[in-house]
Amino acid sequence: MDLQTFRTDLDAWVEEHRAQLTPAPGGEGSLADQLAHLSVVKRLAYDAGFGRWGWPERVGGLGGSPLYRALLGERLTAEGIVQPGGWSMTEVLAPTMIDFAPPELAAAVVPLLLRGEEHWCQGFSEPGTGSNLAELSCRAVRTDDGWRVNGQKVWTSHAHLSDRCVLLTRTGTRESRHRGITALFVDMDTPGITVRPLETMHGVDEFCEVFFDDVLVPADRLLGDVDGGWAVAMDLLPYERSTALWHRGAYVRRRFEELLDTADPGALDPADVGNVALQLFALRAVSRRTQHRLADGDRLGPETSVDKILLGTAEQAVFDLVATGLSDEVVAGTDSTSARWRSDFLYSRAATIYGGTSEIQRNVLARRVLGLGEEP
Ligand SMILES: Cc1cc2nc3c(=O)[nH]c(=O)nc-3n(C[C@H](O)[C@H](O)[C@H](O)COP(=O)(O)OP(=O)(O)OC[C@H]3O[C@@H](n4cnc5c(N)ncnc54)[C@H](O)[C@@H]3O)c2cc1C
Repeated sequence: MDLQTFRTDLDAWVEEHRAQLTPAPGGEGSLADQLAHLSVVKRLAYDAGFGRWGWPERVGGLGGSPLYRALLGERLTAEGIVQPGGWSMTEVLAPTMIDFAPPELAAAVVPLLLRGEEHWCQGFSEPGTGSNLAELSCRAVRTDDGWRVNGQKVWTSHAHLSDRCVLLTRTGTRESRHRGITALFVDMDTPGITVRPLETMHGVDEFCEVFFDDVLVPADRLLGDVDGGWAVAMDLLPYERSTALWHRGAYVRRRFEELLDTADPGALDPADVGNVALQLFALRAVSRRTQHRLADGDRLGPETSVDKILLGTAEQAVFDLVATGLSDEVVAGTDSTSARWRSDFLYSRAATIYGGTSEIQRNVLARRVLGLGEEP
């Protein structure tokens, strides 16, 4: 199917299924409702074929360019039918599973994620290890038939509602840094895993602390090589800055348009509006190029840090403008529309943190793209 036909068919399908493709629950509320709604949308999209285009046939896809995924997610997130955060998990985790999981494992589990039958989480950050990921200490020790894991993760988005986790563990010495890390694919109902949700300042139980006490992981859940987990992380992080960001950018752009439609024109400084529009345009242009590079089969790398910096900056600029132009709603409104604006404003503060902070992205660009020296 060519992209234009895909787009036309998608439009018709969305209109036909309006009764189920309702706006995702938003504002301050339970993440469980959002993810339940996400499952419904993913199942519908998968069964209609739209959720399978752009994914390899060996994991339940229909093949073709990843641009199909960009178009589907853009449509659903821009209209608020799915929350970009929940939708993005698939774009962040599935490509790396396809690249690094044993083929039979990927074939068994990726379709469950694509069809919304499962939710997955990403267990990278630890209490003492966020930006300095290579120093993580959650330990995996070999057993006769797999691994025994002990340690803690934190800020693990959706862990309390997830069925599986892509987990980074320490298998070498801590001094071996990125050379002693191993990635595992872990069932979240394995005995020894304790999950404690953490509430964000926008009132959603978005992420969790996750404790591992003598958790046994079978040998066939290894992703990539033993002590080769850094390659898995370096594969995954650029995906976090590609199609997932395209979808989030679409959502933020739609909110900007809604702001312009809603706010009293006198409440907004035209120069500020123009500045934000420019930032959104720059984000779209750069992210569009990344989507096309992905479609051309390019391997994404540290240059995608540019996309992440632009997203964080543009998202915060949009919601700073919201705080100026709609301040009554953002600060004091009690209806669901106000709650959504307030929630989006507060969540935008995280845009320069998750997926690697803006400072770290600038370090990545300086060291790995511009070659300005190794990390000390
Ligand atoms: C909404 C949200 C969802 C998240 N979801 C997940 C998830 O699902 N899975 C997961 O594993 N993690 C997740 N995270 C965690 C996220 O990846 C980390 O918060 C992030 O990498 C920063 O790490 P940290 O919080 O430990 O901050 P720190 O690393 O302690 O950084 C603190 C500050 O110091 C700065 N800093 C640190 N080192 C340097 C340096 N070398 N040079 C310049 N400045 C520096 C940082 O930029 C930051 O401003 C999430 C975070 C948020 C906010």
